[in-house]
Amino acid sequence: MPGTVKDAIKRSRSTVETAIEAGKATVETAIEHGRAAVEDALHHGRATVESALHHGRATVETAIHHGKVTMQAAILHGREDIRIESVPVPKAEVGEIIVRVGAALTCGTDLKVFRRGYHARMIVPPALFGHELAGTVVEAGEGVTNFAPGDRVVALNSAPCGNCYFCQHGQENLCDDLLFNNGAYAEFIRIPSRIVAKNTLRVPEHVPLEHAALTEPLACAVHGFEDSKPYRGAIVAVIGGGPLGLMMLHVAALAGCETIAVVKHNGQVEAAKQLGATHVVQATSIRKAIQETRAFTPKDRGVDIAIEAVGNPEAWEEAVEMVRKGGTVNFFGGCAVGTRVTLDTNRIHYSDITLRATFHHTPAMCRKALELIASGRFHAGAFITGRAHLYELNRVFEKLMNRSSEIKTAIVP
Ligand SMILES: [Zn+2]
Ligand SMILES: [Zn+2]
Repeated sequence: MPGTVKDAIKRSRSTVETAIEAGKATVETAIEHGRAAVEDALHHGRATVESALHHGRATVETAIHHGKVTMQAAILHGREDIRIESVPVPKAEVGEIIVRVGAALTCGTDLKVFRRGYHARMIVPPALFGHELAGTVVEAGEGVTNFAPGDRVVALNSAPCGNCYFCQHGQENLCDDLLFNNGAYAEFIRIPSRIVAKNTLRVPEHVPLEHAALTEPLACAVHGFEDSKPYRGAIVAVIGGGPLGLMMLHVAALAGCETIAVVKHNGQVEAAKQLGATHVVQATSIRKAIQETRAFTPKDRGVDIAIEAVGNPEAWEEAVEMVRKGGTVNFFGGCAVGTRVTLDTNRIHYSDITLRATFHHTPAMCRKALELIASGRFHAGAFITGRAHLYELNRVFEKLMNRSSEIKTAIVP
């Protein structure tokens, strides 16, 4: 009876297939279950490890800080006169925190202050010195609820008042009562309550403190870039291969702009390429730099955006000559007090050129900058080209004055 056999085969085949199907479903459910369990365990484990880390850190940091009466700190006494001195360890007053400095970065502004001996708005000697830092909280004063010992933080160098005309019109960088804080080149630093409340940010576990310390200069760069009416595909020239020029260049490249770095020194050419420069101009004269920059634009018409990041009058004038009709110039580099420039009024008016001059940062820009660092897209490591102990600070500044190819040096106390 072939029919019956065939039927039987068909029946058993379908039974087997159903069984396989059912088995497969069970196995997949089991895998799913297993995966969920493993991920749960991982998540739990991570949470436990991280909380243990934080606890351990809090204990260690508190212990390091406890009982210390004096610390080593850099004191600026005047022109090219920094001394490392023993000073009292600060105590946290109401609303303040004390941070053990993990890394403090050298900066063009500090170099200017070192050379001039003062900074009208930021620092009057004798004074604690240095303003780009990240570290670990060791003490939180009364009333501080958002930070505790063991927290890794970046504390910005200033905070706006929030009450003046400028603060209330979204221009906190121009606050009439901008509060500055210095003292990063030291073992510990006091963070004033206003900065604790408005401009101290938690550093994600995966971000090294020396990278987080770049938040301040990067906030200035992001602010300056966003102020320059940027758009994807714009041709942006950045004049100046110092730390901020390179940062601006990198920010523009990450935003999808075509970038032209206009630099002076050989070391800056390599750095500019590494940070995303589409073209590099290293000219012997300003006239040549303008010519060569324009040559990289269609029909030599000029760049869409020219950003000056040198801080001298010749570079300001150069920026205006590089930009196309309808383009934007940002005078991003601050010149010495009393400096004047000569500009071609015809060119500015009849070519409809927008002139901007961005200063400093706002709390929103600081948050954006740290996010960019934490995202991993920003090449933070490239900006820190050296490390030195606090005792070597004088030597580090002397080296920076002699135009070495160093970008930033991390000072570790
Ligand atoms: Zn700085
Ligand atoms: Zn204000």
